[in-house]
Amino acid sequence: MSTAHHQPRPESTTLADLIGSSRESETPDWPDEDFCKRLPKIELHAHLTGSIRRETLGEIWRRRKEQEPDFDLEDPLVAIPPGKVDFDLTTEWSVEHATRQVLRDFESDGVVYLELRTIPRAFDETGLTKEKYITTILSTIRSFQSETMHTRLILAIDRQNTKEEALDTVELAIKYKSEGLVVGVDLCGNPAAGDVRIFREAFKKAKQNDLGITLHFAEIERQPIKDELDILLSFEPQRLGHAIHIERMMSSQSHRAGNTDDRILREIRQRKLCIELCLSCNVYAKMLPNRHGNGNSSFQDHHFKYWWKTDCPVALGTDDVGVFLSDLSNEYYLASTHFRVNKYELWHLVFYSIDAIFADQSEKDRLKSSLLAWGKENNLDVGDDDESVNEIIDHEDEEGENSAEQT
Ligand SMILES: [Zn+2]
Repeated sequence: MSTAHHQPRPESTTLADLIGSSRESETPDWPDEDFCKRLPKIELHAHLTGSIRRETLGEIWRRRKEQEPDFDLEDPLVAIPPGKVDFDLTTEWSVEHATRQVLRDFESDGVVYLELRTIPRAFDETGLTKEKYITTILSTIRSFQSETMHTRLILAIDRQNTKEEALDTVELAIKYKSEGLVVGVDLCGNPAAGDVRIFREAFKKAKQNDLGITLHFAEIERQPIKDELDILLSFEPQRLGHAIHIERMMSSQSHRAGNTDDRILREIRQRKLCIELCLSCNVYAKMLPNRHGNGNSSFQDHHFKYWWKTDCPVALGTDDVGVFLSDLSNEYYLASTHFRVNKYELWHLVFYSIDAIFADQSEKDRLKSSLLAWGKENNLDVGDDDESVNEIIDHEDEEGENSAEQT
């Protein structure tokens, strides 16, 4: 991919050519919902339990109620309002049933490669151990026959885990890595809680064992401990989830060389870390900076506008499609609509994130050749191989940064 950086961007896709004319007259270049649905997509940021539909939770509840009439949890379809998912998978059957539905949903949305993530859970009452929870998900993934979608699993450490629990999660990931389905480790959970320093050993072990590392990063403005972002970067992640509140330095007005945010931003860009961005999640969960003073923000406020023109790959993700009810096709459509991303650029977003997946080279090769073939079939100017894919990186932005640094 590196040589692609030196090739000029094709004339037909420069934003300057497009800005100023009405969108209606540009339909050949602009994606509609159908294009976004058909586009072969890569989902790298999806939490298993947050991706379950309410209807599936209802099915799981009814089955449990049949087996245990005394089970006193209220029907989730009644107890949980639409748009909120809060239900534990406590039996092997429910883990398998929910996982299968989630896989089916991503497959039918045109996802060709999926990395699901989950925190290993144990439930004493039902005898479900963390290991059984994970092996049930893995066997469901294995038995899910899909001609188009390949799935991998990331085991997540909860920020409120103890040091020992985090190490146990990494041990589980190492144990099942050899089969090729467990590919990485994540850090997630309440961003206002926990002291990430206690996870140093766990992530070091993950790294030593060639597991991919992705971290929920800068989800809130003030992290619970000073220097959290530096500590997280010291875990050597390949990918960062959300990366919101380093946003001050993404805005050129407040760009001052030397401040902490600026240093972190530069570090991320220099390492070319992949940024996993979840538009609907960030807007609806009000995670973006409170620019309008009323706690609300709009899609236009999203930091996608900063990242997608940098040389950090951007992977759009749903985070919790069961909660935010926006599938990955819709996330691509939202990006296109709010940031004037044309068909080629949308395709390029997917293509450029392939190298950031945690699966092996053969999977990357499969994805690249299928994306290239799809691009050609759909008359996109994609070149013949990944070396000849045109770039969309905005070098003006880099020049702007350099001049800001000198002042
Ligand atoms: Zn997440």
